[in-house]
Amino acid sequence: MSLTERDQKVIWHPYTQMKNALPHIPIVRGEGVYLFDEDGKKYIDAVSSWWVNIHGHAHPHIAKKVAEQLSVLEHVIFAGFTHEPAVLLAERLLALLPGDQEKVFYTDNGSTAVEVALKMCLQFWSNTGHKGRTKIIAFKEAYHGDTFGAMSVSGRSIFTDPFNSMLFDVEFIDLPTEKNIEQLKSKINYLSNEVACFIFEPMVLGAGGMLMYEGQHLDQLIETCQKHGILTIADEVMTGFGRTGTYFACETLQTKPDIFCLSKGLTGGTMPLGVTTCNQKIFDAFLSDDKLKTLYHGHSFTANPVACAASLASLDILLKPETLANIQRIKSKNEAFAAEIKDHPKVRDVRQTGTILVLEWETGNDTSYLSGLRNQLYLYFLERGIILRPLGNILYILPPYIISDEDLEYIYQTIHQALNDI
Ligand SMILES: *Cc1c(COP(=O)(O)O)cnc(C)c1O
Repeated sequence: MSLTERDQKVIWHPYTQMKNALPHIPIVRGEGVYLFDEDGKKYIDAVSSWWVNIHGHAHPHIAKKVAEQLSVLEHVIFAGFTHEPAVLLAERLLALLPGDQEKVFYTDNGSTAVEVALKMCLQFWSNTGHKGRTKIIAFKEAYHGDTFGAMSVSGRSIFTDPFNSMLFDVEFIDLPTEKNIEQLKSKINYLSNEVACFIFEPMVLGAGGMLMYEGQHLDQLIETCQKHGILTIADEVMTGFGRTGTYFACETLQTKPDIFCLSKGLTGGTMPLGVTTCNQKIFDAFLSDDKLKTLYHGHSFTANPVACAASLASLDILLKPETLANIQRIKSKNEAFAAEIKDHPKVRDVRQTGTILVLEWETGNDTSYLSGLRNQLYLYFLERGIILRPLGNILYILPPYIISDEDLEYIYQTIHQALNDI
């Protein structure tokens, strides 16, 4: 039996209707921006394997540091014990994050990083004697993960549909624009002291359709929240570690959030790890002789030393001047390509932030066309050795920073060709 056939017998894949799923492609090796299948076919990983891989696959520096850590200390319980990789990573992250971040709480992935952020905010208010502050504000098209709390603060969609009645109520707001910003601020003012926190993906909403909005508008929303003491959570799980052109998207803001959620690029895409960081104000609200004020949250693999070692190695690479230069190079090449195709009749919209390029396919009013289009596009690029996973009619490139100019050009050319063929 081939690997694909053995897979079909025993595996249930994520986000996949298993009834009519295409055979899953058996990948045997990764190197740089490329993945190789069993037959030796090469694919450009143009979506960084679900947005996690920032420095390329099987990076030798990360591999070396992970291997070293594995034979020194693979794991240790993180309550009552600590270790160098966790402490050093916290020190380095806090130094790099914008604003006044002071403490790092480790978890396993982006969803759990969000769960912890929400718990920190809700318990902040209960610990400080404001039990009525339980409302949460989030964007209508937000995506914050697949666990129940994270689902609750995400937009309602076909992903959440079977669970909607079990999700807690959230005050959803539209993405800010020049036109509605005053209205959004009024809504926050109106809700004011019932609200525990506002959670947002800064400037780019990922799974909700790679939607983009202005940092200056986010600044105004955060400022309005701060006026009422509403805590703010920046979910930088996707935008963190250089994706939007700076180390963190929030670097470009005037205001600074109280909490950051990080994962995805944290380990360079090598293995799962999440962190939730907070400022002193939040941390201090949990300090008490009263045991009930403790943050009772943890995971078996909290602060896994090998994952921390991978993250430290990934940070080494991220902080090299070459990496920032690569990010700028991708950004300007994307800009040039966006300008080139923006007037194509099949292009409804092109938008771009940092290393993310988004192209919305024109579908007219034909919804049957839309449902077939996604798979058609996916297969079109796959056949040509490019991994892109369109969100419906929204095609995006989100590559590892080491992608070469030649590979970028090949992707652009193939997109151009697809615009004419499909
Ligand atoms: C992917 C993502 C998450 C969830 O992270 P997982 O590691 O998949 O649980 C949360 N927030 C944002 C913005 C994301 O893009």
